[in-house]
Amino acid sequence: MRLTDGRKRVAFLYGTRPEAIKMAPVVAAVRRTAGLMPVVVTSGQHREILDQVNDLFGIVPDRDLDLLRPGQTLDGVMAGALRGFGDYLDERPVDAVVVQGDTSTAFAGALAAYHRQLPVVHVEAGLRTQHLYSPFPEEGNRRFIGVVADLHCAPTRAAAANLLAENVPAERIIVTGNTVIDALMWAVERQRVTEDPFVDAAIAAGRRIVTVTLHRRESWDGGIRAVADAVARVARRHPEVLVVLPMHPNPVVRAELRPLLDPVPNVHLAAPMAYAPFCRLLAGSAVVVTDSGGVQEEAPTLNVPVIVTRETTERPEAVHAGAAVLVGTDRDRIATTLEELLADELLHQRMASAPSPFGDGRAAERIAVAIGDLLSAGRLAATDDRVGAFAS
Ligand code: UDP
Repeated sequence: MRLTDGRKRVAFLYGTRPEAIKMAPVVAAVRRTAGLMPVVVTSGQHREILDQVNDLFGIVPDRDLDLLRPGQTLDGVMAGALRGFGDYLDERPVDAVVVQGDTSTAFAGALAAYHRQLPVVHVEAGLRTQHLYSPFPEEGNRRFIGVVADLHCAPTRAAAANLLAENVPAERIIVTGNTVIDALMWAVERQRVTEDPFVDAAIAAGRRIVTVTLHRRESWDGGIRAVADAVARVARRHPEVLVVLPMHPNPVVRAELRPLLDPVPNVHLAAPMAYAPFCRLLAGSAVVVTDSGGVQEEAPTLNVPVIVTRETTERPEAVHAGAAVLVGTDRDRIATTLEELLADELLHQRMASAPSPFGDGRAAERIAVAIGDLLSAGRLAATDDRVGAFAS
């Protein structure tokens, strides 16, 4: 829908913290692009932590679908977002819809756009584990989105290769880098403290910090307990280390973590941190233990080795680059790997200095240019030096 000033409206739909973090730089880049105007709709799939990110990046949603309900099912999120976003598109027509990653909100956004035959732009396209149920429901969601997307913004060449293998036409794919690196660089530049006085004092004193984040649905079934057990064991053996665990708001996750970790004196169970302070925590960490996708991407950029507590990863680039190690949820393996990294300075140094394969902080710019091309010419520019900037 061309506005009276000639600009085209580009709608962004997102609902969780990681989507907001990865979309914010794209919203900003589209805002800076001549001829385009971003409009943001949030589903509210993660309430408070989503608002924090929007506030940080100065994004005011045009509409908030406010879908979060206690005990919300995947069907509930999907149906609510599809109807709510569909109604929005009917009331306030747009020229393209941008979704990010692999949440149920993103899938609903792509489907609502498809129902109206609108171009769909998929940010962070092409990630695959090749296991439909791992991670669940993310692997399914991102494949569904891939089927209807017109522009696939792959963060790495490996992700682009996954799309090519599924017969996505090459002219619909660009390799952009991951927008989380844009957000991370922006945040680290501005933020000097974690805003948790205890943690800030520890960093200032040069104490070694192990940061842990755990939240994935697939880890609920015993996995979280195993990770917590391993971390508790290593923390007890290394009183000089401080383990910081900003807890995900999910009550299932919290109920698992507290009994195992509360009694350990050098484990600090913190409230979930706002994005910029969390980036500061990461930057001050010696090692990160995580099942989070975004954190796997951020830590290598900050030269922090990552232990990934998942069986599979759709981000093999960091493992191949030597910046991350995939250990699953076996408690002995997690404990051994963490101890090795704390004890073996050479190993730590080798992982910390591995190159980050996820981008250079300019992914959002490339995506905004490509959206402009798509909407003005109906295709991407033919000679495209934006492709191929990243190692796979
Ligand atoms: N994060 C944050 N505060 C925290 C923990 C994580 O802002 O207390 C950020 C982190 O930097 C990353 C994102 O949240 O960019 C990851 O979100 P999450 O682990 O919920 O999801 P995933 O990346 O696994 O999809």
